[in-house]
Amino acid sequence: MSRLLQDVVGELTKLPGVGRRTALRLAIHLLRMEPESVHDMTRSINRFRDDVKYCAQCNNLSDEEICPICADPERDHSTICVVEQVADVLSIENTHQYRGLYHVLGGVISPMQGIAPSDLKIDLLVDRIARGGVKEVILAISTSVEGETTLFYLMNRLRQFEGLKVTAIARGIGFGDELEYVDELTIAHALMNRREVE
Ligand code: ZN
Repeated sequence: MSRLLQDVVGELTKLPGVGRRTALRLAIHLLRMEPESVHDMTRSINRFRDDVKYCAQCNNLSDEEICPICADPERDHSTICVVEQVADVLSIENTHQYRGLYHVLGGVISPMQGIAPSDLKIDLLVDRIARGGVKEVILAISTSVEGETTLFYLMNRLRQFEGLKVTAIARGIGFGDELEYVDELTIAHALMNRREVE
């Protein structure tokens, strides 16, 4: 096999869900594309990796200091939905059922993987609520053991805010570990059926 082909296949298999067979098919497909088209693709990937920022308020991916969702005056700034990762924001946005803001933690607490609360954007969330104006925090965290640990940790940290409503999304049948793999209807349903947590 061509050394150059081998290199491309090797790089592509670093992506999640891409095995050797798929990588080979993609590499051959790149050959059939116009060279300029392939250059556009790699340029776009490089620009994304080098230039994308995280919103200073909610930690969502953003091209600016503040992301478009946080900057939107039409959205409900008194409600914050706390999620694990950027992909969860996209999943919830796709339901078109939520008009509040978000807060992206950047993962969940996991002693096994050495992820402590200080590794997540929890202080950023607490500071944000301390500035006032937030009435409800919705915890949309996965049902895994790490997710539950994170949920309880957050509930404890948020207890200091008197009058703040803290809710957790409903866990319906079929609600999996990771929000990004759950269909939009299930997410919308889980959001609507959120319950207050103590
Ligand atoms: Zn933001």
